[in-house]
Amino acid sequence: MTNQPRVNSDPSTSLRASLEAASCPMCRSAPAPTLRYDFDPYRVVDCPNCGLTFLSPRLTESAILKLYADQEYYVSEVAGQGYDEYLEVRPNWVKTFTKRLDQVLKYQKPGKVLDIGCGPGFFLDAAQAKGYDAYGLDPSDYIVKVAREIFGERIKHGVIETADYSADEFDLVVAFDTFEHIYRPLEWLSATRRVLKTGGLLAITTPDPSSMLAKLSGKNWVSFKLPEHVFYWSPATIRRALTDGWEILEINRAGQYATLGFLFRRLFRLSSNPRGILKWKLDLLNKLSIYSDNGSMTVIARKVK
Ligand SMILES: [Zn+2]
Repeated sequence: MTNQPRVNSDPSTSLRASLEAASCPMCRSAPAPTLRYDFDPYRVVDCPNCGLTFLSPRLTESAILKLYADQEYYVSEVAGQGYDEYLEVRPNWVKTFTKRLDQVLKYQKPGKVLDIGCGPGFFLDAAQAKGYDAYGLDPSDYIVKVAREIFGERIKHGVIETADYSADEFDLVVAFDTFEHIYRPLEWLSATRRVLKTGGLLAITTPDPSSMLAKLSGKNWVSFKLPEHVFYWSPATIRRALTDGWEILEINRAGQYATLGFLFRRLFRLSSNPRGILKWKLDLLNKLSIYSDNGSMTVIARKVK
């Protein structure tokens, strides 16, 4: 960035300086990826060899980590930015995570769990209520401060590849709505595998571009959240990523509880602070919440050997 000519202060100039091309992490010498959707300056592309969908060009990892570091990202009014109202929707997230934990509890008793990408700690609430000893990890300075106000030292700042957890420390690692943000997914999986006990479980919920909702929505699919979602895993591609040392127990459709107001705003890409009649209507819709499939999938895998 420092050697860019400062010809003007157009923000798109500095944005373009932070772009990079990506390649499929599973296919070393795949042909050039094929275009699925153009979201200038980003593109959603497919690996012609294995079918993995990913963002290329994308923001560099250091540029995106700067974006996540800020409070702005979490309370932004920018429609489509992602975490609008995130902090105001705690009850629905706790319900959503409780539902996902119930899927895991078919396979294990509550033990020690790590939530990677824990945000403000909603998952820890759900996990503690189910009897888990719960810990969280997040790369955002801002959100770690928020989460520590409730959970203290149970929350660590950082990423799993460099975090100082012991080997074989956890019975369960969850990454809910996180894996699609990960720049080096195979390294992430191997770091995650290290902290799991043999026989321990990994649960991932991530947007599935082969889902019916994704297909019906096309370019307007709610999970094309750019620039932060850099990989779009399907059941077929995540199976390829989880071959070495993992046994896949299930892959199922997933969704989330949300207020009708939230869904309505998402649908019409409205600001989180509307005024007048619209605000009155949204306040009413915010009192009602439903579970809806958002085109995501949940994968539960066991660490073997
Ligand atoms: Zn590939």
